Amino acid sequence: MNMDVLVSLSKRRGFVFQSSEIYGGTGSCWDYGPLGVELKNNIKRVWWRDFVQARADMVGIDASILMHPTVWKASGHLDHFTDPMVDCRECRRRFRADHVDAVAWTHYCPATKGNKFTIPAGEPCGHCGQRRTLCPECGKGELTAPRQFNLMFKTFMGPVEEDAAMTYLRPETAQAMFVNFDNVLQSMRLKLPFGIAQAGRSFRNEITPGNFIFRTREFEQMEIEFFVNPNDRVEGRPADEYWHDRWIEDCMAWFKRYGLREENLRLREHERDELAHYAKRTVDIEYNFPIGWSELMGIANRTDFDLKQHAKWSGKSLTYFDEERKEHVVPFVVEPAAGVDRALLAFMADAYREEEVRGEKRVVLRLHPELAPLKVAVLPLLKKRDDIVRAAHEIRATLARQWRVVYDDTAAIGRLYRRQDEVGTPYCVTVDVQTIGDAERGERGDGRATIRERDSMEQIRVPIPELPAVFRELLDGGAWQQVAGRYPPARG
Ligand SMILES: [Zn+2]
Ligand SMILES: [Zn+2]
Repeated sequence: MNMDVLVSLSKRRGFVFQSSEIYGGTGSCWDYGPLGVELKNNIKRVWWRDFVQARADMVGIDASILMHPTVWKASGHLDHFTDPMVDCRECRRRFRADHVDAVAWTHYCPATKGNKFTIPAGEPCGHCGQRRTLCPECGKGELTAPRQFNLMFKTFMGPVEEDAAMTYLRPETAQAMFVNFDNVLQSMRLKLPFGIAQAGRSFRNEITPGNFIFRTREFEQMEIEFFVNPNDRVEGRPADEYWHDRWIEDCMAWFKRYGLREENLRLREHERDELAHYAKRTVDIEYNFPIGWSELMGIANRTDFDLKQHAKWSGKSLTYFDEERKEHVVPFVVEPAAGVDRALLAFMADAYREEEVRGEKRVVLRLHPELAPLKVAVLPLLKKRDDIVRAAHEIRATLARQWRVVYDDTAAIGRLYRRQDEVGTPYCVTVDVQTIGDAERGERGDGRATIRERDSMEQIRVPIPELPAVFRELLDGGAWQQVAGRYPPARG
């Protein structure tokens, strides 16, 4: 499966649009459309439910994006959150110094009277043997020596644009959990181990963003800071190491539960030399994206680095009183950090299938019902019959009190099913003559609607008053086969 297929489906069906598209787009910014926002909200909602609501050892916060500028001094972002950049003196393009040889380069070859060639990344010219020294884009300009470029977006607080008023858009949500550590600990009377979660926007002025919503300058994170007592031991191991492994397992299981296939997931241990300066150990969960194996989320053991740094810079104590040992300790922290946009991309890529049904191609997004943007589509079989249309609208209105449900009568039924398959709607309900009957012929309806399941395409006849209970069961994780077994199959 390639990324263009997803980009095109996303635009055509209202999942993701390029930001400010009518103005030619904004670099690496994307807008979620009507279906995209539902999918994204569903991902965040199940994450919050499973990792915060359902657990006794977790609480959440929602912090502001603008924080005190000293936060970024203490966290190390001001000094270390940089990439080495080089600039072209001719065309002014900017490149990451360590990526400049990873792109194809433009070459005006002296051996062929200056003809222009595009030469594959890292290779020399086949005519003159030269290697790239100039700008890979324009092929003419010299590159500057590498300079450190900070990835944080700067902005100004208040009416005066001066250095003293400078602040930053947060590059991660994590720091809010550290600076609020004592507020949360005291207000909620927590005992270690416990975690603080947050889902929210972060900003990084990436120089080489790209690959659709995989790497963007504005993105959403779902982060957890899980604090443990470094003096405790669990199952014979240091508590931080035990909990690190637990979180790796739990996160991996979470992605599988909502549909990512085992063969598309793997763990990758960070090498010593790629570990962040604060980390004792970091493991990435990688997903086999259309662009290849890449990071889906990271789970880091950040030790006591952050709390110690903020204690030092703020002058406030950020410790926990260990009742048993009668001493103050600085907790260690394990950080499972996931990107919402990246998770959404993985769920969509994994769900995408092209199938053949009775000689016809169908595209289906086999999204987990809890993630699917639309839960049910109500489709009248005859839109000329007022009584059928009215019954369909009534069913939609009843179900829409609990779920995102749509009504569609703008095409023939086969077409309507394909449309819903393509956006992952798990169930369709149709209302037909059999449901309503035909007064002119003196035929009574059976009062049943047809439910069609997306993956098996099986259909059952269910009495209209029972639809809410049936969908409650199905959308709460009930198996289709179990529910379908209680009702007669639909004719045809
Ligand atoms: Zn250039
Ligand atoms: Zn050459």
